[in-house]
Amino acid sequence: MTEKRDYYEVLGIQKGASEDDIKQAYRKAALKWHPDRWVSGTDAEKKTAEEKFKEASEAYSVLSDPQKRAKYDQFGFAGVDSGAGPDWSQGFGNLNDILNNLFGGNFSFGGGGFSGFESFFGGGGRSQGPRTLRGRDIRTRVTLTLEDVASGCTKEVSIERNRPCPDCNGRGAQNESDIKTCPTCHGSGQVQRVVSSLFGRTVTYEACPQCGGEGKSVSNPCKRCGGSGMERRRETVRVKIPAGVEDGMQITVRGEGNSAPRGGVNGDLLLVVSIQQHPQLKRDGANLFYTRVISVTDAMLGTTIDIPAIGSTQKLKVDPGTQSGTVVRMRGQGLPSVNGYGRGDLYVKVLVWIPRKLRGSDKEAIEKLAQSEAVKPDPTRDDRELFEKESQYF
Ligand SMILES: [Zn+2]
Ligand SMILES: [Zn+2]
Repeated sequence: MTEKRDYYEVLGIQKGASEDDIKQAYRKAALKWHPDRWVSGTDAEKKTAEEKFKEASEAYSVLSDPQKRAKYDQFGFAGVDSGAGPDWSQGFGNLNDILNNLFGGNFSFGGGGFSGFESFFGGGGRSQGPRTLRGRDIRTRVTLTLEDVASGCTKEVSIERNRPCPDCNGRGAQNESDIKTCPTCHGSGQVQRVVSSLFGRTVTYEACPQCGGEGKSVSNPCKRCGGSGMERRRETVRVKIPAGVEDGMQITVRGEGNSAPRGGVNGDLLLVVSIQQHPQLKRDGANLFYTRVISVTDAMLGTTIDIPAIGSTQKLKVDPGTQSGTVVRMRGQGLPSVNGYGRGDLYVKVLVWIPRKLRGSDKEAIEKLAQSEAVKPDPTRDDRELFEKESQYF
């Protein structure tokens, strides 16, 4: 695929678009590009439509979720999980269902009406077959140091999860022939319920209570797993974590969550990033902050100090005559940004400590120094900005 287009551009909306604008834009795109609308198109047209529909759906899935949208706004595609957007392995979904989910049931493609009402008379129908089971996601925390964040890292995460039973390969039955069509829903996975409402009778569909929507029932269950097809295991997953991640970010590892029985789809492993406090460095995004107290003589004479930068100690030259509170920027000594472009800076704040007690010869030396013109504040000489503060409130 060519370069990804900006999600707002895909939906043709402005960055500050309201939730409703986003829905409307996606509705428009779905009506235009959903593969159901192109069944009689050429192969090339079908392919374009499919791409466009997927692109719009991915954009919608991110922008319609306030948290994902905020991350996308801040970090671009890097803030969004790779493989964001709906899972298309089960097909594109029914267009009516998509539109109904958007606006709570008032839209139906092919001219207004209530989709439930229509399907009651065999109009739209519900093309969805039995539900393929999907294993539940597993959410866990991964703790990183700032060093991990700086370089990116690989972490081993130990999780307990459902995996296919080795005796029956997840079937739950001893033999393939022991899996039968569910007698309650006849394999559709759904049961109908008729509801009377203001608009007449409408039909809703629910997951079949006997088979849980699977459309299959198991006789002669596997002895090892008792028919569940699953076995609980503690396993270790190695996860690559990109550089620059921030506290609270979530990393999605596709397919590493719980498995589902009978050929179902694996859930995901969701890692919530937690970052350990560094003993000396504070972090804000890609920038780091460090405060260091130096002596009054070092401030006057100048010195070199060691900065505990990430990865290695850096030397910082403090000029003679450095005022307390001076902030020095060490360019590029911060963290890499999560989207992979550039690096932050390390800001060092220098504070000067004035000794509280002086004795004997020390006191004499300072008293002698006090006679010098060099230590008398003189606004006409240097540090005009500092002296301007004399005329301000704190
Ligand atoms: Zn059933
Ligand atoms: Zn089994």
